[in-house]
Amino acid sequence: MRKVKQSWELVEDFMNGIEDPVEHIYRVLDSINRWESMVNAYISLESPDILIEKAEEISRRIRRGERVGRLVGLIVSVKDNICTSFLPTTAASKILDPYIPPYDATVVERLLREDAIIVGKTNLDEFAMGSTTELSSFGPTRNPWDLDRVPGGSSGGSAASLSYGGADLSLGSDTGGSARLPAAYTATVGLKPTYGLVSRYGLIPYGNSLEQISPMARSVKDVALLLDIIGGFDPLDATSLNVDSLNTFNSIKADARDLKICILKEMVEGADSPINSMFWKIIEKLESEGANIEYYSLPILSKALPTYYTIAFAEAASNLARYAGIFYPTKGSSSSWEEYIGESRFKGFGREVKRRIMLGVYALSEGYRDEYYVAATKVRRVIRDEIVKLTSKCIIASQVSPILPPRLGERIDDPLKLYYMDMYTVVANLAGVPALAQPIGFHGDLPIGIQWIGGPLEESKLISIGLLIEDITGLRGVIVD
Ligand code: GLN
Repeated sequence: MRKVKQSWELVEDFMNGIEDPVEHIYRVLDSINRWESMVNAYISLESPDILIEKAEEISRRIRRGERVGRLVGLIVSVKDNICTSFLPTTAASKILDPYIPPYDATVVERLLREDAIIVGKTNLDEFAMGSTTELSSFGPTRNPWDLDRVPGGSSGGSAASLSYGGADLSLGSDTGGSARLPAAYTATVGLKPTYGLVSRYGLIPYGNSLEQISPMARSVKDVALLLDIIGGFDPLDATSLNVDSLNTFNSIKADARDLKICILKEMVEGADSPINSMFWKIIEKLESEGANIEYYSLPILSKALPTYYTIAFAEAASNLARYAGIFYPTKGSSSSWEEYIGESRFKGFGREVKRRIMLGVYALSEGYRDEYYVAATKVRRVIRDEIVKLTSKCIIASQVSPILPPRLGERIDDPLKLYYMDMYTVVANLAGVPALAQPIGFHGDLPIGIQWIGGPLEESKLISIGLLIEDITGLRGVIVD
């Protein structure tokens, strides 16, 4: 393990002439050359010549004293379910390969406006459906901390690119934990924003009512920097909240004595012992510094996982109906209309995606709709109300994952084993509230994270507590050596 500068510090150093964006891009390209063939974090990479040219241009503009953006010279990786007009966007599915969108997602436009350099598109589970990044049609991503293990998913490529130094910042997406689980498994930081804070325009949809594009980085302050740039109202997204971007970058480190933390039995129980002991060590430390810790139980949370999966599958089934091999790359060869569509989908979708479409259609079908989909939306409402009520009093502390990063192949044969990995993360998506995952330690070489959940638009509170935890653990800007 070694520590590197945070991205916001790097921007300051570029501006002061202490660091050079051109040297920096060479450094990042070196890491990519060294690691990428083992890790497979990227589905597509921008050509080195273009990247170097961009860095040279930025370096010239800085030297001339021209106005530059807030991400000037930073190297950003983008999950491959976020549209870019200059690199293919596949969502790791054969059905979209090759597809080059005619437009950039709003978040991508905002990055470019701030002079970020987009280095490539990162690997994911097909259509972001999974928890390990093994369900990609471009092969699995491996965890740089232990190459026999998964980096978590579905934003595993984003997390891996950060932890080996192949990017400074990354955009992931989080429908049920996809930014937070990989963050916990790779000693990086991921934040699932309040629903509607970040535009979903240009995000290939999986579960529309649950998901948010999510900033990922190697430190809490870097996540704040990225969040402030991508957040805020977008007229192109009908679910966008009518709020300005939050100013989380200037959040001040929390004082433990002012902290009210609540711990929900259902969101800590059931985790493996190394994860448990590290979690309680941090809680004890906060308590000894004066934090007020309260304990609750919300039995309805035992229904969170089936509620999440019922809603997510139903939304996925209706979203994926658009892929028929017609508007997007053609896949079938049959001459009859129905056979052509069937063949395209049969060849284009992977096994897990097909499973979800079938279960989602079932949950929405006449005669079963009330029993499954409608029932799930009612349970969701209760969960949301309870979580919003509780987070108006305190910040929830919980585990991120019940298990350490599994070995490749260990969990994919049994879908229930995969779904189980999300038991602590789906709650924030059902409730639409923000949640931060950050590292708190290692068990051997394997990273362990903690999760903080706040009320709607309380991202600054999460950043503040995250900064305090970084001071306690010293885990900030960590990369694999
Ligand atoms: N693992 C969860 C699922 O497969 C969450 C995925 C995500 O957040 N995109 O639905």
